[in-house]
Amino acid sequence: LLVTFEGIDGSGKSTQARRLAERLQAKGHEVVLTREPGGSEGAEEIRALLLTGDTNRWSAETEILLFTAARRDHLEKTIRPALAAGKTVICDRFADSTRVYQGATRGDLRGTVDSLHQIMIGQEPDLTFIIDMDPKVALERGLARNSGEDRFEDFGLGFQETLRHGFLSIAHQNPERCIVVDGNRPLEQVGAEVLAIYEERA
Ligand code: C5P
Repeated sequence: LLVTFEGIDGSGKSTQARRLAERLQAKGHEVVLTREPGGSEGAEEIRALLLTGDTNRWSAETEILLFTAARRDHLEKTIRPALAAGKTVICDRFADSTRVYQGATRGDLRGTVDSLHQIMIGQEPDLTFIIDMDPKVALERGLARNSGEDRFEDFGLGFQETLRHGFLSIAHQNPERCIVVDGNRPLEQVGAEVLAIYEERA
């Protein structure tokens, strides 16, 4: 099973991905916890190319190609082998992030993102948790841990709201695959809901 976690920066998706992985491991499941961009040696190198440098280092189109290249390597080296071995793969961000970040914030490039995905990736998750979060609160969390090294860190409220709506519309378009979880609650509560949904679906 491929399970992905999506949401805006500061939504708590990484924490929830890790918690679910730990809970399932404790129950004896074989789990691979991974992330994007990254998750394989080559994809982590591409991540470094993507995250460093100034904001206009890459055009939107080049950025889409780099994210897709990273995803392809991650798929070949990490995700597919783990799925073939019967493991559960839990991934912090996947193609929905590219659909939203690259597809909707730098002009309307959703068609380009989708075409490349179809040709080069093809894989959809079995289950996607969209951790929905008040962009203002997420922004405060994000600011609190801002490393300053990540050129994507854009803490404008309007930008975060565009992203949030992007994720919610993907959830709306893919009701079978995507579950929206209210992330504006204590993380234990969010985690309990995530685990319950996973168990219902798996
Ligand atoms: O989730 P994580 O914090 O590791 O993501 C790293 C950075 O890359 C974030 O600032 C996120 O906003 C950005 N990103 C992006 N487009 C994607 C995936 C992540 O701009 N498709």
